[in-house]
Amino acid sequence: MQVSRRSFIKGVLIASIIGETDLFGLSMNKAMAESRTLKIEKAKETKSICPFCAVGCSMIAYSTGDGSVNARPSIMHIEGDPDSPINQGRLCAKGSATMQITVNKNRVKTPLYRRKGSKEWEEVSWDFALDKIALLIKEERDKNFITKDSQGYTLNQLPTIAAVGGSPCANENNYLFVKAMRSLGLVYIDGQARI
Ligand code: SF4
Repeated sequence: MQVSRRSFIKGVLIASIIGETDLFGLSMNKAMAESRTLKIEKAKETKSICPFCAVGCSMIAYSTGDGSVNARPSIMHIEGDPDSPINQGRLCAKGSATMQITVNKNRVKTPLYRRKGSKEWEEVSWDFALDKIALLIKEERDKNFITKDSQGYTLNQLPTIAAVGGSPCANENNYLFVKAMRSLGLVYIDGQARI
């Protein structure tokens, strides 16, 4: 029987797949078994909360990197946390797509600021952004804080600023958020979950 180069390689390949031999030292059986192990097997687990709505489903983010100084962790997979009494490992369609906002070149990672009269947004530091926000709140409060109404009743309100809390905030975060906003006199306070 004449054996061509092509049929020889095909034969060895088939034999290696069914486990009869190794292909040039590479056992396809071992390679196939390896591909069946979970890709998250050696990943680091970090518990988190879905950023989308007030249900507050728990998530586990799996990342590579062993935590050493020069290793840059990168998230490889996100799924529902089976230990959570809220979602018991499940995520809705939106929550299941969280990976797309986590690892996305369009994700905004620094505060953006548009100066008066400018058409462009520029990246600024968190210190700059926080100082700017504090200054604007102070200016607005000094200008529009109402201590009494027309009949002399005490109001102590600042009706020209509204505040919206984030959906992943826990009760404790929201408690502090509302207390801080009320201490400034805000009356229009809401949560993203109701929007
Ligand atoms: S997974 Fe769905 S239901 Fe759960 S918090 Fe996220 S958006 Fe809400």
